[in-house]
Amino acid sequence: MTRLAVTRALRSVPRATILSRPQLPRTPSFRNRAPPSLANYTRNLSVTARRLNDDEDERKWSTPLAKQLAEAITATGPVPLASFMRMCLTGDIGGYYTGAIEKSEQNRDQFGVQGDFVTSPEISQVFGELCGLWYVTEWLAQGRPSKGVELIEVGPGRGTLMDDMLRTIQNFPEMAKSIDAVYMVEASPQLRIAQKNLLCGEDAAMSESKVGYHSHCKYGNIPIVWTETIKSIPYDPEKTPFIMAHEFFDALPIHAFQLVEVPPSDPSPPSSIATITTSGPKGQSKKPTTTGPTLEWRELLVSPTPPHSTHLTLRTPPSQNPHLTPPPDFQLTLSPSPTRHSLHLPDLSPRYRAIKSSSSSSQVPLPDGTTRAGGPGSLIEICPDAYLFASDFATRIGGSPSHPKPSGPKGAALILDYGPGDGSVPVNSLRGIRKHHLVSPFAEPGLTDLSADVDFTAVAEAATDASEGVEVHGPVEQAWLLEGMGGRERVEHLLKVGLAKRPGSSEGEEEEREKFVSDLRRSWERLVDRGPNGMGRIYKALAIVPENDGRRRPVGFGGDVVM
Ligand code: SAH
Repeated sequence: MTRLAVTRALRSVPRATILSRPQLPRTPSFRNRAPPSLANYTRNLSVTARRLNDDEDERKWSTPLAKQLAEAITATGPVPLASFMRMCLTGDIGGYYTGAIEKSEQNRDQFGVQGDFVTSPEISQVFGELCGLWYVTEWLAQGRPSKGVELIEVGPGRGTLMDDMLRTIQNFPEMAKSIDAVYMVEASPQLRIAQKNLLCGEDAAMSESKVGYHSHCKYGNIPIVWTETIKSIPYDPEKTPFIMAHEFFDALPIHAFQLVEVPPSDPSPPSSIATITTSGPKGQSKKPTTTGPTLEWRELLVSPTPPHSTHLTLRTPPSQNPHLTPPPDFQLTLSPSPTRHSLHLPDLSPRYRAIKSSSSSSQVPLPDGTTRAGGPGSLIEICPDAYLFASDFATRIGGSPSHPKPSGPKGAALILDYGPGDGSVPVNSLRGIRKHHLVSPFAEPGLTDLSADVDFTAVAEAATDASEGVEVHGPVEQAWLLEGMGGRERVEHLLKVGLAKRPGSSEGEEEEREKFVSDLRRSWERLVDRGPNGMGRIYKALAIVPENDGRRRPVGFGGDVVM
C-alpha cells in the first residue's frame, strides 16, 4: 500500500462533528523567548528555619498546597525541584492535575479557551487521525497481527487524541479487530471521567478492579482500562503494544543542577538532605590550598521566599507576567553541599560528564556538530521519570533479559513533545502556565501548570539502554512528521467534503463556508507552522520501533509505508 493509498483509505473515515478546535496553543507564543535567567529566581538562602517559623503564624500562603509544602520544607529543609513539581502536578493535596483547579474554579479544566493551554489534538482532528494512521502503518509493516494489539496512551488529557485515533483505525477493520484492549495511564480522576465520557459515552458504566478502572469503548466495544501508573499494565511478551505519549514527558518532574567550583580543601560531606545555612558551606578550611578548585554538581532546591516578599523584591521578570499571580511562595536555592541526587544523576550519561570535564572557556560538542559552553556555572536538567517511562516502552516493545520476548520485538511508541532537537541538555526550561500566559512556576502551586523541555536524546538513550530489541528514530520536527503522513491531503479532502455539505446559497451560508475553510486551514497551518515559535518547529517526534538494523524507517521519519 502506498502512502497515497493509505491517504485514500483515510478519506472514508467519517468526519468528526468538530472540524477545527479552539486556536490557543499549549505553548504560549512567547514560550520560546529566552527563558528568564536562573539568577532571576535563584537566591542565596537568607532565612533559617527558625526565622521561617516565627513569621509562619501570620503568613498567608497562596494555596492550601503551598502551605503544606512550606510546612514540609520547614521540617525537613529545602526539597528537590522534582519533589516540588510532583506535588504541584499530581500530588494528593490539590495538585494541578489532581483536583486543585476543579476545587477553586468550578467548570474549568486545563484545556481550551477557558483553560490554561490547548494541545495539538484539541486544535485539529487531523492531528489524531494522522497519529492513528501512523500506528496503522506500523501494524502493516509488522505483518498485520490478527490479535494481541494493545493501544496504550500515557497522559491522555480529555481523551480527544485517543478518540480521533480509534475512529481512524476503525477504517482498517482488520487492525481494529486485532486490538485486545486500550490502556489509558492517567493520574487525574477528573480527566479519567472526561475520557470515559468521550470514549465510552456518559451513560457507560465504569467498574473498578485491582488493576484500575474498566469500561468499553463506543468503537467496537473494545475494553478500556485506566491505570494510574504504566507499571500497572500487565506485561505480556506476546502482545503488540502501540504506545502514545503526547505532551506527557514535559509534565514529568525534573531535577536541576549547577556546576560549581569547590576548593579542594573543602570536601563537603555527602548528605541525603542538603544543609543550608546563612554562613555558607559547613567545614570551611582555613588551610591554604596548593591545587586548583574542583568542579561539583550542586542541586537547585526549592525553599519558601522570605515573608512579605513582593514581585518587586523577588524581581519577577516581566516575561512571567507578575500582574497575573500573587508573588511566588517559593524560589530556587543552590544547595551548598552535595545531595543524594547531585552525586548520582549527573553521572549517568556521558553527555553530562562532558559538560563537567570541559573548562569554562571550552565548548561541549553536541551530536549534531554544534557546541555549547561547559565548565563552572553550567546548568543541566535531568528527568529520571522520563528515563523510567522510555525504558518501560522499550522493554514492552523489544523485551529485555528480565522480560524476554521469545517471538521477537513488536509494537511501537510515538513520543511527541517540545524540547531541543539538537541533542543539547535542557537548561532553565521550567515554566509556569496560567490561562495561556507564562507565569512564575513558583506562584500559586497547584493552580499553575508546570512544564519543562523534554530531553529527547536522554529518552532515546534510555530506550536503547533498556532493550536491545528496539531502535529509535528522530527527533523530527512535528511539521515534518505531519506533512510526511499526508496531512495536507487530508485537510483538502475534509474541505471538499465539508463544502459539499454547505451549499452557500444565502449570504449567511456563504459566510459560514468561508469561516469553515479558514478555520480548517488555520488550525492545520498552526500545527505545521515552522516559524521560530511555530508548533511545527518546536514540537518534535521520536519513534521507538522493533530493531531492524535501521533498514526500515517508520513513516514520517523518512520511511515509506510497507506491507
Ligand atoms: N496528551 C493530552 C494531554 C496533555 S496534558 C493532549 O495532548 O491533549 C498532560 C496529561 O498527563 C494530563 O492528562 C495529565 O493528567 C497527565 N499526567 C501528568 N502527569 C502524569 C503522571 N505522572 N502520570 C499519569 N498521568 C499524568
